[in-house]
Amino acid sequence: MNNKLYGNLIFELSHEGRRGYSLPVNEFGNHCLPKELTRETDANLPQCDEMTVVRHYTNHSANNFGVDNGFYPLGSCTMKYNPSINEEMANLPAFSCLHPMQPEETVAGAKELERRLIHSLCELTGMADFTLKPFAGAHGELTGLMIIRSYHESRNDNARTKVIVPDSAHGTNPASAAVCGLDVIEVRSKEDGTVDVDDLRNIVEKSGDEIAAMMMTNPNTLGLFEYNIPEIADLIHACGGLMYYDGANLNPMLGVARPGDMGFDVMHVNLHKTFSTPHGGGGPGAGPVGVRKGLESFFPVVGAFDGNYAVLMRAYAYILTLGKEQVSNVGPLATLNANYIKESLRDRYKLPIDKTCMHEFVFDGLCDKSTGVTTMDVAKRLLDYGYHAPTIYFPLLFHESMMIEPTENESKETMDSFIRVMNTIADEASTNPELVKGAPHNTPIGRVDDVLAAKQPVLTYKQLKDGEN
Ligand SMILES: *Cc1c(COP(=O)(O)O)cnc(C)c1O
Repeated sequence: MNNKLYGNLIFELSHEGRRGYSLPVNEFGNHCLPKELTRETDANLPQCDEMTVVRHYTNHSANNFGVDNGFYPLGSCTMKYNPSINEEMANLPAFSCLHPMQPEETVAGAKELERRLIHSLCELTGMADFTLKPFAGAHGELTGLMIIRSYHESRNDNARTKVIVPDSAHGTNPASAAVCGLDVIEVRSKEDGTVDVDDLRNIVEKSGDEIAAMMMTNPNTLGLFEYNIPEIADLIHACGGLMYYDGANLNPMLGVARPGDMGFDVMHVNLHKTFSTPHGGGGPGAGPVGVRKGLESFFPVVGAFDGNYAVLMRAYAYILTLGKEQVSNVGPLATLNANYIKESLRDRYKLPIDKTCMHEFVFDGLCDKSTGVTTMDVAKRLLDYGYHAPTIYFPLLFHESMMIEPTENESKETMDSFIRVMNTIADEASTNPELVKGAPHNTPIGRVDDVLAAKQPVLTYKQLKDGEN
């Protein structure tokens, strides 16, 4: 990047007295705040002209990769497109200008939107009611587990302190259980990637009286449909536990099957994944939690206000734009797209589980391991070609996991060009492995040393003073 100003902090571009605009002298005189309310010294704010500010932030934003820039096949963390209509809706002043402390009778429209969104989510999932308050998937999991704990406590069933989680689960599942004060029992996956029901039966026989819940993701994080759900749900219910459904990525199920009909009691949905809110770098999100009939009274207080409201609006707008007619195309198209990429690349990338996948699937690195080119190298090389990397080294079941999810929103042309690039990288790995191992070559920052970054993190930044380079 040639722009000399690029890469600086806005504070480093500051010059004493520099202003973006000037205000006219106030003909009514200055009305100062009471002295005890004002600061003694001026705040250390950057002082810049407007063009410097605009260019600074524009250049930084251009350095970001988003789903609006290019294909983003990040498995297990669905990145869908960001429909412009959602942004228009979320910006409607009648909603965006509401204050969270406004009296309830002045926000009837906003409340009606919440009711309608809850109704849609109930219809899509088969649950009886939802709370929209949780701010993320992990927050939803915690909320859901608190509901489950209160349910057991309400029956004086206080020994239920264990949660069963499959070894393929997203890391937030065991983490949420731990935050909720519950112990995790891991249940194994079989060769074919689905939950080992025999292992589960052993766990239930041994600890049945202590099981609070089983958390499941279906399709699981290998992109496989857990076909033993009825048997699993019967086992858990028979021992007195509840079934929790991690619906972070609900798109393969939309309009096709409902967790409520499969025997799940409590679940969360990630609106920022399945229902199209742009996210990344930690937010913004919304993880509404649904419960089956009979558990509605256990919703805890998990947030002071009504959740991440603009995310709720985008989700509702997205559901309305799909409509009843189109919503049932989401699951089949997500599944078709994932299988199309999987089948197109399986000659070059190792497919450890050879089954029809749902919305996502996992490769275990390149087929040809002799070149020493790893999943990390392929992921970095993809950046050179303008593609976001897939999820890598997760799930932990394989050494070179590469988890790909195209989503239902991508065109065949986009997927074809991704497939071409993946094949090109496989060719490069054979003919010129050093090229792939040295990637990325075209990004503003090359390969960072993530081990060093983890072991010796540099958490402060030395600000350059005027005149320094
Ligand atoms: C993303 C994800 C989560 C966590 O959601 P956050 O909003 O990131 O907290 C949980 N489970 C699965 C399967 C996910 O993909």
